[in-house]
Amino acid sequence: MSALLQLSGVSVAIGKAHLLEGIDLALDRGQILGLVGESGSGKSLTAMAAMGLLPLIGGRVTAGEVRFDGTDLSTLGEAGRRHLRGRRIGFVTQNPMTALDPVQRIGAQIDVVSRLHLGLDKAAARARTLDLMAQLRIPEAAAVAEAWPHQLSGGMKQRIVIAMALAGDPDLIIADEPTTALDVTVQAQILQILAGLVRDRGLALMLITHDMGVVAQLCDRVAVLYAGRLAEERAVGPIFAAPAHPYTRALTLCIPREGMARGSLHGIPGAVPSAAAYPAGCRFHPRCARADATCRATVPALSALPDGGLVACHHAEPGAP
Ligand code: SF4
Repeated sequence: MSALLQLSGVSVAIGKAHLLEGIDLALDRGQILGLVGESGSGKSLTAMAAMGLLPLIGGRVTAGEVRFDGTDLSTLGEAGRRHLRGRRIGFVTQNPMTALDPVQRIGAQIDVVSRLHLGLDKAAARARTLDLMAQLRIPEAAAVAEAWPHQLSGGMKQRIVIAMALAGDPDLIIADEPTTALDVTVQAQILQILAGLVRDRGLALMLITHDMGVVAQLCDRVAVLYAGRLAEERAVGPIFAAPAHPYTRALTLCIPREGMARGSLHGIPGAVPSAAAYPAGCRFHPRCARADATCRATVPALSALPDGGLVACHHAEPGAP
C-alpha cells in the first residue's frame, strides 16, 4: 500500500535552473518526517512540490511523481490542487504575519477555511473555530476570535495559523520552520502542540527545519537534503546513532549539548553551492573530508541501508547503530 504522501524520483526546475533532483520520500498518517538541511538545500521547494504549489512560482516537476493518497498531483488542475491544499493538506508558515490578513479579525480568518472546504454555515464554522482554538490551548477563545492580528503575541499568532491549517480537517500538515520567529519557550509550546496533533488525531506532519535538536526530539523519520539532492533518509534512532552520510554526521555534530565546553560546537566549513554552481559528482565533495576522485567525478546513487533507510554516498558508513 502506498504512503499518504509519496515523492518518487522527483526533480524540479524553475526556468532553466534545476533545483531538485531525484527526491524519494514517503510519509504516512501518525508519522512525523523531518526535512533537514542548510538554507539552499531544497527543503521548502520539496514542500511546495508536495503541495502542488510549483506552478505558482513558475516551477515544474521535470521527472518523477508526487502522489497524495494515491492521486498523482500532475493529473489535477489548479482547482483540484487548491482543494487538496485547504482540505487535505494544511500549511503552517515560518512567519505567522504573512499568513494572517492584518485587516480581518482572527475568528473570521479561521471560519472561512471550514466554510470553504467543509461547507459549514456561519454558526457552525464559528463553533468549529472556537473548538479548535480551545484544543490549541488559546485562552479566552471567544475574545481572541474578535481580536485583530496585531493585538496578539508571536506565539499566539502561530497558534492561530495552526488553527487555520486544521480548520479544513486535513490529513497532512506541512510546517516550514514553524518556530523560527518565536522565542525559545514559545518554540517548545508550538512544537508540543504539533506533536500532540499527530498523536491525538493521527495526522501526518512534515516538519521542515534546520534544527537537528528539534528533529531528535520530535521526528520518526528524517530526510537530509543537500544542494537539491537527498543525502540520507532514515528512522530517527539510527540516523543519530550512526549517520551513514558525512553531511548527516556533520549536521548531528552541530547540535549543542548540555555541558559542552565553550567553543567546542562544530560548524560545517564552506557553504551550500548555488544551483548555478553545483559541482560535478557528489555536490558535497568540496566540503567533505572523505572526498576522493570518484566523489569528484561520479554522482553517488541512492542505495538501501540494512535498516530500510537510503543513503547517497560512495563511502557511506554501514549505518548500523
Ligand atoms: Fe563525501 Fe564522497 Fe560521500 Fe560525497 S560521495 S559525501 S564527497 S564521501
